[in-house]
Amino acid sequence: MFGKGLIKGLQITWKEFWAQKLTVQYPDEQHPVPERFHGRFILDVDKCIACSLCANACPNKVITIKKQKVGKKQFMTDYIMNIQYCLFCGLCVESCNKDALHFSQDFNMNQYFYRDLPLVLVQREAPAEPVDEEAPAAKAGDDKKAKAKPKPKAKTDKPAEPAADSEVAAGKAPDKEGQ
Ligand code: SF4
Ligand code: SF4
Repeated sequence: MFGKGLIKGLQITWKEFWAQKLTVQYPDEQHPVPERFHGRFILDVDKCIACSLCANACPNKVITIKKQKVGKKQFMTDYIMNIQYCLFCGLCVESCNKDALHFSQDFNMNQYFYRDLPLVLVQREAPAEPVDEEAPAAKAGDDKKAKAKPKPKAKTDKPAEPAADSEVAAGKAPDKEGQ
């Protein structure tokens, strides 16, 4: 019958007109993202021991870690992710046994220039002197004095990382491809 399709289409339009609206006016409004959403990476530099387990677990070799020996310990100077190759599979997060690497719910990682794409989580200079080098010696000295004095507690306080070190402007990021 002529017009049957038209009536059917109008019925659908009428039904959808009254249905719940799912479109939001992004970026003024945003859909809530699930709790376990795989968004921008967050690195807790205080927990990270620069073991490179996450970098080795990555199938796409996204993570570049640079470290420098300071005293007896390795000091991580760079933690850079070439995020344009990332699958957001989460293997790196799962492989971290120090619980230092996490996903956030921030999905807005677009950049205008290609060179700004790498995600620089850490970029800092290594200290000239080891920061915790005196702790074992102090502890040994304290053990000898432990009989005479009440047992002292070993100091585990670490110097707070400056906020600027944990997230450096992406424009300074080195690029694997030199772009
Ligand atoms: S989410 Fe997957 S692809 Fe991305 S850095 Fe981690 S291991 Fe590599
Ligand atoms: S984020 Fe975790 S797995 Fe990666 S280097 Fe740091 S401690 Fe090791």
